[in-house]
Amino acid sequence: MRTSGPRLNSVRCATALTVFGWKNNCVIEFDTSGRIQSLREDSEADVDLNLKGTVIAGIPNLHSHAHQKVITGLTEHRIAGQDDFWGWRELMYRANARLDPEQLQTIARYLYIDMLQKGYTSVAEFHYLHHQPDGTPYADRSEMSAQLLEAASEAGIAITLLPVLYCRGGFNDEPVQNAQHRFFNNLEDYLALLESCHSLCAQDPDRFLGFAAHSLRAVSPSVMSSTIEAAGKLLESAPIHIHVAEQMREVNDCVEINGARPVAWLYDQCDVTDRWCLIHATHVDPHEQKLLAQSGAIVGLCPTTEANLGDGIFPAAELMANNGFLGVGSDSQVCTSPAEELRLLEYSQRFSLRRRTVLVPDDAGSNGRALTTAATIGGNRARGERLAGLQPGARGDLVEIGSDHVEFAGRSPDQILDTWIFSGPDNPVQNVVAGGRHVVHDGVHPSMESASRAYRDMVNALDLS
Ligand SMILES: [Zn+2]
Repeated sequence: MRTSGPRLNSVRCATALTVFGWKNNCVIEFDTSGRIQSLREDSEADVDLNLKGTVIAGIPNLHSHAHQKVITGLTEHRIAGQDDFWGWRELMYRANARLDPEQLQTIARYLYIDMLQKGYTSVAEFHYLHHQPDGTPYADRSEMSAQLLEAASEAGIAITLLPVLYCRGGFNDEPVQNAQHRFFNNLEDYLALLESCHSLCAQDPDRFLGFAAHSLRAVSPSVMSSTIEAAGKLLESAPIHIHVAEQMREVNDCVEINGARPVAWLYDQCDVTDRWCLIHATHVDPHEQKLLAQSGAIVGLCPTTEANLGDGIFPAAELMANNGFLGVGSDSQVCTSPAEELRLLEYSQRFSLRRRTVLVPDDAGSNGRALTTAATIGGNRARGERLAGLQPGARGDLVEIGSDHVEFAGRSPDQILDTWIFSGPDNPVQNVVAGGRHVVHDGVHPSMESASRAYRDMVNALDLS
């Protein structure tokens, strides 16, 4: 059931950051599928919606695990011997084991609405919770995937569903362990899942399908390549995502077993192109940095999650200097604000390099504009969208920053973005248009109240101890 309303025909933005620069009185018209048909400066035309603040293109969230929302804040309690990523993973597995399809939809609906209110207008859902808790497939293999798609439609956020392939417990082809049975598929079953997800996404311009391999630990490069080939038309020109080089233990295991670091090994074994999005890629050497940039692959960074899990800092300045691509994602959902992800992304570079304005290309000026633009371009590419930003043909995704907020007094449009990213206020996102639909009105999604109520009731009933 879609609750996000019909698509608009047109919007006027008092100030908008288009791919042609800042424009005043910019009238944006949408086609029937929610893409931008035209942009022009016009102060007279009748429009469906007037946005008086500062408008930028919506920011894609390129990496989300919706189900992890329920454990945010529950893993900050110190348990001796469990102070690392692997201890966190055990807690996450325990919570996962309890979720049923209806609960997953309740989580995702609340989460996606929250993302829209913070300025994300699309989400790439890296989804691996496929089966029942004991590993038995649901009668319909795409049962859990369907819940996520439904939640996205109800919220009005565009979704790129990435059904995750997970077929082993480690680099040495170890069998999957207890909790991982929910994730496991052999090739035949995975292709059946993909086929089913494809039919759920076809004909809906707000749904997209891609491929994800969980990690090099969980899928060998040869299985990855043969799966993509076997999927044929189902994945034609679709994005390809994988977690890689997030933790040093994974890097060391890969070097020991395969004789190469994970990113180098992936490039050696697979034809990594600009369809690929490498999630985290935290631990890379200069050679791997060059491979990333030369291939046009996107590096999917999730700074608040990477900080929360103690992953390390991806050397983003080097990637940008090599003209590479990056985007941001909410991953474990400890943060659902693109502004906060971008702030931490820049700050982590400043901490390690002891410089300022690190991720701004020379002569680009505004850090806020550079960061939002990079995340919009990289995030859209990671979703399989070739056009990003406000321009004809791109998705009609608009975020209005309420520039009459006192904190923005005396600021130019660039400085409003700088202030939004680096200095708050908490959440000045006022109106959001996603795929031409007006989904957030004066800071609030019309379904937030009911989605919050359902989420609260569901979590209260869930035993997360
Ligand atoms: Zn992840």
